[in-house]
Amino acid sequence: MTPRAGGGVPRVGVMALQGDVREHAAVLSKLGAEPVPIRRPMDAVGLDALVLPGGESTTISMLLDSSGLADELAKMVDDHLPMLGTCAGMILLASEVLGGRPDQRCYGAIDVSVRRNAFGRQLESFEADLAVRGLDEPMHAVFIRAPVVEQAGPSVEVLASVWVPGREDAGGRPVVCVQGPVIVASFHPELTGDGRLHELLLRNLEEG
Ligand code: GLN
Repeated sequence: MTPRAGGGVPRVGVMALQGDVREHAAVLSKLGAEPVPIRRPMDAVGLDALVLPGGESTTISMLLDSSGLADELAKMVDDHLPMLGTCAGMILLASEVLGGRPDQRCYGAIDVSVRRNAFGRQLESFEADLAVRGLDEPMHAVFIRAPVVEQAGPSVEVLASVWVPGREDAGGRPVVCVQGPVIVASFHPELTGDGRLHELLLRNLEEG
């Protein structure tokens, strides 16, 4: 990618408490960014953007507290750092979590209410070719015990939706959303090596 206006390659933190850290880092490197694994507060310095991988949002929430990174993440949200949250990462960035543990945290980086494990037992994991607004070709999406967005605030743009079995009357539920510099997706783009959402994140940086 082209160097940033301020010079240098963008440093993109990847929250490395659980989940597909290596896969996200590989996608970012391929796009010409510098992935920075974040394990302790001292790692979270001088970042241009942040990726929150999937995993188990209850566990990541606890690990954020025990690692001292919870306050750092809250600060990054306050500072409007560009972010991409996938699956459990989406849950952590939401403003409300339905079906969560009472003590699990979410950081309100994007005005969405998300339901955990929204596809039920029959469909714990599935794959789909998703039409994503703004992308020319569909995105092959791997959903693993995935959340959906139940409600999105007026400033949130929905880029893709899917039908949840048994809840067809509710219409398609959003699975990719954007608000300002924050992108969330219910699935795992890093598993297919599709870098187009990461590219969107990096484009947000270039546009300031
Ligand atoms: N079900 C998980 C949660 O609630 C998310 C699954 C994932 O990240 N693949 O956090």
